[in-house]
Amino acid sequence: MPLPIVHYDDPILRKKGEKVKSFDAVLAQLAAEMVETMHDAGGIGLAAQQVGRALQLCVVDLRDVHAEFSWRLDGAQPPLELFMPMIIVNPKITPEPLAEATSEEGCLSFPNIRGDVARPELIVVKFHDEHGTPHTLHCDGLFARCIQHEADHLNGVLFIDRMDKKILAKLEPAISELKKQTRAAAKT
Ligand code: ZN
Repeated sequence: MPLPIVHYDDPILRKKGEKVKSFDAVLAQLAAEMVETMHDAGGIGLAAQQVGRALQLCVVDLRDVHAEFSWRLDGAQPPLELFMPMIIVNPKITPEPLAEATSEEGCLSFPNIRGDVARPELIVVKFHDEHGTPHTLHCDGLFARCIQHEADHLNGVLFIDRMDKKILAKLEPAISELKKQTRAAAKT
């Protein structure tokens, strides 16, 4: 069953996730439910905070997107079908300081709200999978953007925090409305 997705400005979205220490069946179950929730919502990434859990855990699936990007996973270039959906635990991101790219982003915790965000174009991410096996991924383009967006969630950082003030000002009415709805729903 897909899990309910938490919307802005539920306080869990601002919580830094705890480091995952047990790579057990409970973790695998949560990760599987998050994958199902992401697919059900038509998203390409989902962080634990978005299903109400402050943990260093996110999931990503880019198999259905039409975008150009490249990657190296543990020194090889396996087809996406072999390692997606990806379960990313305790990620550590190092951006390559060469170039930044600006592109429109959305977020399942901000329905119908989209805006441009500038981020490093190339990253290296070290993480563990759900079995506790360590991996190193080099990626760029939408792949790098998606992982940075999700890893931000794990630290309580949201895409609106990274938006240019002018873009944010335009989105402000929709964001205020969403905040109102989320608070009203919390009271019922
Ligand atoms: Zn998001």
